[in-house]
Amino acid sequence: MSQKNIVIIGGGISGLATAYSLEERAKRNGKSLFITILEKNNRVGGSILTERENGFIIEGGPDCFISEKPYALQLCKKLGIGDNLLCTNDEFRKTFVLWKGNLHELPEGVMLMIPTRIVPILKSSLISSLGKLRMAMELLIPKKKSQEDESLSEFVCRRLGKDVLDKIAEPLVAGIHAANPDTMSVKSTFPKFVQMEEEYGSLIRAMIAKKKMMNNSISETTQGYTMFMTLKNGLDELPVTIVKSLKTTKIIKDKEAVRVVKSPSKITTGESIYKILLKDGEGLDADAIVFATPSYETARLLSELDALISNQLDEIPYISTATVSLAYKKDAVSHPMNGFGFVVPKPEKRKIMAATWVSRKFSYRGPEDSFLIRCFVGGYYNEDLIFMDDEDMIKMVKGELKDIMGINADPILVRLYRWKKAMPQYTIGHDDRLTILNRMLSKEPGLFLTGSAYRGIGISGCINDADLTADAVIKHFYPAQ
Ligand SMILES: Cc1cc2nc3c(=O)[nH]c(=O)nc-3n(C[C@H](O)[C@H](O)[C@H](O)COP(=O)(O)OP(=O)(O)OC[C@H]3O[C@@H](n4cnc5c(N)ncnc54)[C@H](O)[C@@H]3O)c2cc1C
Repeated sequence: MSQKNIVIIGGGISGLATAYSLEERAKRNGKSLFITILEKNNRVGGSILTERENGFIIEGGPDCFISEKPYALQLCKKLGIGDNLLCTNDEFRKTFVLWKGNLHELPEGVMLMIPTRIVPILKSSLISSLGKLRMAMELLIPKKKSQEDESLSEFVCRRLGKDVLDKIAEPLVAGIHAANPDTMSVKSTFPKFVQMEEEYGSLIRAMIAKKKMMNNSISETTQGYTMFMTLKNGLDELPVTIVKSLKTTKIIKDKEAVRVVKSPSKITTGESIYKILLKDGEGLDADAIVFATPSYETARLLSELDALISNQLDEIPYISTATVSLAYKKDAVSHPMNGFGFVVPKPEKRKIMAATWVSRKFSYRGPEDSFLIRCFVGGYYNEDLIFMDDEDMIKMVKGELKDIMGINADPILVRLYRWKKAMPQYTIGHDDRLTILNRMLSKEPGLFLTGSAYRGIGISGCINDADLTADAVIKHFYPAQ
């Protein structure tokens, strides 16, 4: 069989990890693949963007990945950068929640939103007495009978009560995704919660059992790592090292795909070969295409080839956010910052969603005499704020830090990054929409979708999905493998 021409559109972590897995599989099976990555920007990495300035390492997009899904960890090790993996500083492992204008510590032992220890909950100033009682009742609430998808709000209210929804689940759990908990699918975004209820009849019981199991047998992959991990030199070391490791893949930057059509020369021969039309007027033939682009962008690329697939892709909503990083001299900040940062529930009506005390969460993020803080703007409830001009947004963020943390000083460094439509939302019915999409795609063999819009929102999820996608591409060409 002749050499197969695979084009990956999008050079974010999903596109790069797909190329990496394809090369790995081709080598293992003695196959020859010709892989090209098309990236519209002049750099790869997509949302992973690290800047280094005046001794600071500033993450514009993601600042870490989770170790529970071990795929990012495993990839770092395979790439030879395992020694650069950096744990969080566990002496500061506390999160605060802004409530009625004050920062309250999230009770110790609350994992995601599920309590696993009684005493810290009883002592907590965040949860009301009634809220604590309602939380405890979770142990007695029977599991849901129907398999129907439900929103995160419905799920949390049903199991743990409204206090937990308002003060923990909405700012912490939905906040990670900048999402609206009323429309967020619990089944697609947090399948583990659904599984825990199903298996144990109670989230608290499940979490306690899980904790015990983890203590008894910490898996080899995650042993020695913290829940959130990053790379000592900055997260962009991951995409940069993938690029260095690619042997046969050709990466073309500053090349934007605008449309995908059937290659005219091949229509008569019946071969499923595609042509990618580029913004500069050129075209590229492909035997298979992996779309590692945001789903709305893939919809645009496929609009002429298959309007149904394109419309289905357009059903996946996205949210815009911005991050503003500010560095201060240590002696200019009196706040103790004794944690990883804080989240802001919606009823507080503030203009930032959350702030990470970066210098506490990770070491090596800046000079010893300074603090780096990163604030999140936008998200579902305040999306318009990301369209403010730079000066106004920075002024607004400084004002928020003054109100919440009492910081009056001028920062010594400020960096702002806007992320327009960068966070996909798995809303109710997401799984069903994917099933329909996959059925439609099966009629177009040679087209593959990967990325955060489908089966895993974070970096680790994207890396796993990229690997599964590479597997599907190989099986498409070599069914016997
Ligand atoms: C502010 C922010 C904070 C986050 N924090 C975390 C975190 O802490 N931990 C975590 O695990 N995840 C986090 N995420 C999510 C994580 O960044 C994403 O899941 C992941 O980076 C998505 O990678 P991707 O390759 O699928 O998409 P992207 O990174 O969006 O890459 C898509 C690429 O396709 C290119 N492209 C688009 N259209 C075209 C075209 N027509 N032709 C050619 N190229 C095109 C783009 O330029 C881009 O490079 C965060 C995301 C954001 C925005």
